[in-house]
Amino acid sequence: MAVRSGAGTGPEAVADRAWRIPLRGVNAYALLTQEGTVLIDAGNRGDGRRILEALRAAGIEAPRHILLTHADMDHAGGVRAIVEATSATVHASPEQAELLAGHGRPSALRRFGRLLTGRLACVPDLADGARVAGLLVLATPGHTAGHVALLREADGVLFAGDALAVRREEVRLLGAALTEDFAKATASLRRLVELRPSVVLPGHGNPLSAPQGALEAALRRRSGKR
Ligand SMILES: [Zn+2]
Repeated sequence: MAVRSGAGTGPEAVADRAWRIPLRGVNAYALLTQEGTVLIDAGNRGDGRRILEALRAAGIEAPRHILLTHADMDHAGGVRAIVEATSATVHASPEQAELLAGHGRPSALRRFGRLLTGRLACVPDLADGARVAGLLVLATPGHTAGHVALLREADGVLFAGDALAVRREEVRLLGAALTEDFAKATASLRRLVELRPSVVLPGHGNPLSAPQGALEAALRRRSGKR
């Protein structure tokens, strides 16, 4: 079921000490941890300031850490403005950190403006199995190489990034124009289904609580496809 219907402009509580910050067509999330406020993804360019204002208005401390599920423009575009205002530390997977630093070679899908460029320094510590700012890092490639999802193990809250999307309470993979490797994306989806998360917080679409049925249905639809 949808955690909440209708996107307001301010942060909306989606789990204990966790909020969705709905932006134009994409979500960022904030959560409180022992290491301060952690932001997961940062929207498009121009959303950085919007995120900071939304947090301030809700009385949530500015982020100390920004964890990027991947480097696409709609997830990493707002990072620079937040870093300049807060000196938060940015974390990304080793592959995506290379791209953000202006090294590495983006895939054909991402050569034309989808990827954030401009040499952003990040700590490349979002490697599979690592625990960063209280979250377990899950390598979930497919949408992009080096994509990660993040799990709060204590209560099964899953920050899925673009490993999946939610549309009308249905879970699906992103379309062919946005997915580098469907076989990997399907394997990543299977991994997330097997975690049996309590809440799925997607990069695109509404948060889903009690998501297991929708996750398994998505995997069934994928099986047999490449
Ligand atoms: Zn996206």
